[in-house]
Amino acid sequence: MAEQLAIYRRYRASTFGELRGQDPIAKTLRRAVADGRLGHGLLFVGPRGTGKTSTARIVAKALNCLAPADGEPCGSCTACIAIRDGATFDVVESNAATSNRIDDVREDLIPLITNPPTDLKRKVLILDEVHRFTNDAWDALLKWLEEPPPGIVFIFCTTDPSRIRPAILSRLQRFDFRPIAQDEIAGKLTEILKTEKRNAEPEAIALLARLADGGMRDAESMLDQLLSSGVDPLRAADVEELLGLPSAEHIVKLAVAMLDADAPAGLAILSEFELRGRDPHVVADHLTDLIRRALHAALAAGGSVPADASRLPAGLTLGGEPGAPLPLAGRDRADLLRLAHALRRLESGRGDADLRLGLELLLLGTLTPTTPTTTAPLVASAAPVLAPAAPAAPAAPAAPAASTASTAAPVSSAAAAAPAMKATRTPRAATPSTSTPPAAPASDEWTRMLAAADPATKPLIADARPAFADGVLTLLYSVSKSFMRQRAEGRRDRIEAIAAQVYGAGVQVKFLEQDVDTALREVWTDA
Ligand SMILES: [Zn+2]
Repeated sequence: MAEQLAIYRRYRASTFGELRGQDPIAKTLRRAVADGRLGHGLLFVGPRGTGKTSTARIVAKALNCLAPADGEPCGSCTACIAIRDGATFDVVESNAATSNRIDDVREDLIPLITNPPTDLKRKVLILDEVHRFTNDAWDALLKWLEEPPPGIVFIFCTTDPSRIRPAILSRLQRFDFRPIAQDEIAGKLTEILKTEKRNAEPEAIALLARLADGGMRDAESMLDQLLSSGVDPLRAADVEELLGLPSAEHIVKLAVAMLDADAPAGLAILSEFELRGRDPHVVADHLTDLIRRALHAALAAGGSVPADASRLPAGLTLGGEPGAPLPLAGRDRADLLRLAHALRRLESGRGDADLRLGLELLLLGTLTPTTPTTTAPLVASAAPVLAPAAPAAPAAPAAPAASTASTAAPVSSAAAAAPAMKATRTPRAATPSTSTPPAAPASDEWTRMLAAADPATKPLIADARPAFADGVLTLLYSVSKSFMRQRAEGRRDRIEAIAAQVYGAGVQVKFLEQDVDTALREVWTDA
């Protein structure tokens, strides 16, 4: 029986410790259960396949386990087994995608809520895709959230919290599940292969992890499909062939042909794709993904794609043969941007034939800039090149960068924790909020500060974007000026002394570096 279960069911995490890529959430929940202070209303938010319902089941087990160890369920007591096998009415899963109306709530959920637990200690109601509940359905539930019967725990899961009313949200303890990092996914796939006594080349696993786009369940489903083909060992080319994907090698060649306006080479690849039945949307998707990663690499390396993999930011891969120069090595940021923008325009809501024609047109030199494009100011500006709003000359008074600076820190730490790229289809959703009110214009003070700086200090701060608020002067450095930021930080005392002359005594100076993801997002949303 167990043999026939899909991989993602068989290898589903059954303890907090087994959850992949959600360490902070797992820790918080385990502690809350152990200390007996878990709220009665939880909201799990995150993209599909990131472990929301798996975590909800673990919470249900942990709350009911007869022999828990420091918040972890034992997995072998009658309560744990009943929950695992879905053999108890006290832990119920329901999906609002199929039962979202007021009648569904009245007939199915309310009786479950009002009756006390029958065979377990706590009643746990796991409701998935709750953004699909109608307003009436929520109204019926809200009453029970406000005055919950003793012992009940509601766990709401959703991919889209913006569709849930504030009155509901305010009553729930929220946990944000992030897309699972590629190395976490690759690690789990490797473990599964080992247990299944099957083999796969690291490139094949890396490709699957990348295709899964942060969703463990998708990765496991794809692996399932590939293993059932019987191919062993699994190579990257097998993954592409079996999943009907355009080969990475061809995608790189197509990108090169587009960048060079080499129509014959590019058209040959496109007709090869057509012959093999490759979906033009998938081709465009993979092309966009490659260009995005190349842009990321170019931004981090200071302007163009580096030649060897050791200079890539952590977690970023560009593929290619080990030891050989990276694909698209030496390609300039401006050229990659132009292609990225063209691909984005191409992708929005087109039919197959239309998209194929669009890809062909990209090969016919349509990328050559005949008129100034939106990328022009980026290329022309010498100093903080990453921000469209940045001044043209390095010594000129810089515009206040309060909104960027204030969002840079949290974004940067999140990016460091999860180097995986965002889904290529939703770059706009990832744009940092710009609703933060900008600080008062700092240009006069900044000009005076630069004038007051001694010759050894001035070059270290001239390229930074200043923002002053609440007694703190934040200096934002672009990624390519990382060494400047380090040297400036080494002279913090001196810089604070100069700042005190201009901004007043006691001013603090903060040195921030714009992380690559933020920079990329600014560039990306500039399309
Ligand atoms: Zn147990």
